[in-house]
Amino acid sequence: MTDYSYSRLQVFQQCPFKYRLMYIDKIARFTKGIEGFMGDMVHRTLRDLHARVDEGGTMTVDEMLDIYRSHWNGGWSDDVVIVKKNRTAADYLQSGAEMLIAYYDKYEPFDQMSIVGLETDERLQLPDGNRYYIKIDKLTRVDDTYYVCDYKTGAKGVTQTDAEADSQLGMYSLWVLRTFPQAGKVLMRWYSLADGREVTCEKGVQALQALEAKVVRTISAIESCKNFSTRRTGLCSYCQYQDLCPEFKR
Ligand code: SF4
Repeated sequence: MTDYSYSRLQVFQQCPFKYRLMYIDKIARFTKGIEGFMGDMVHRTLRDLHARVDEGGTMTVDEMLDIYRSHWNGGWSDDVVIVKKNRTAADYLQSGAEMLIAYYDKYEPFDQMSIVGLETDERLQLPDGNRYYIKIDKLTRVDDTYYVCDYKTGAKGVTQTDAEADSQLGMYSLWVLRTFPQAGKVLMRWYSLADGREVTCEKGVQALQALEAKVVRTISAIESCKNFSTRRTGLCSYCQYQDLCPEFKR
């Protein structure tokens, strides 16, 4: 039995060779792009904000920004890579702060929904015996409607078309349906923090079961894969395994 995650399956679909290095050979690479680092720090800050409010407390915007800077300083290391030459770490720190302030101004006092879970650490049992990792940024509820919420910190955000095609929150929704039988409806909601947009989408039970079957097929392809070939795409520029990749040795 193996625990698969959305990102693990994504890596295989992006490049089987990279998958082999990362998950089979377990060659660690600690470098991280600053966009991902900033996103993680914003996520942690929103988790802390909602946890405080859920416990009956309050948080001012200045306290929130102090927490954000504390996460940033505590998590920062020289392994964080800035690819864009015209941007500095301070620029990204500021971008994250602006997203947090806009979120705070829009949703304060954060009582629109009840919190069910924050950054969940759960597993969905799959029919092939493997498990799927469930990490929901924010799971909330209004009456018997559950919301699987995801924060996006990229400049592009999420469009309705992206949402309809998404598989990650779909699998999370399936876990919610199976875990909370009292749920009348499960909606997926993306918060595009860069521009304040919300995108909401619902998948029916049949669509979710079809999604689960697709995930199981992808796992089967991974487990029967023999050659783990390279797949060169635009994402190679961000790949931390270029030094081991035959595509880059040529
Ligand atoms: S550089 Fe590209 S082809 Fe090579 S391992 Fe990374 S993603 Fe795959």
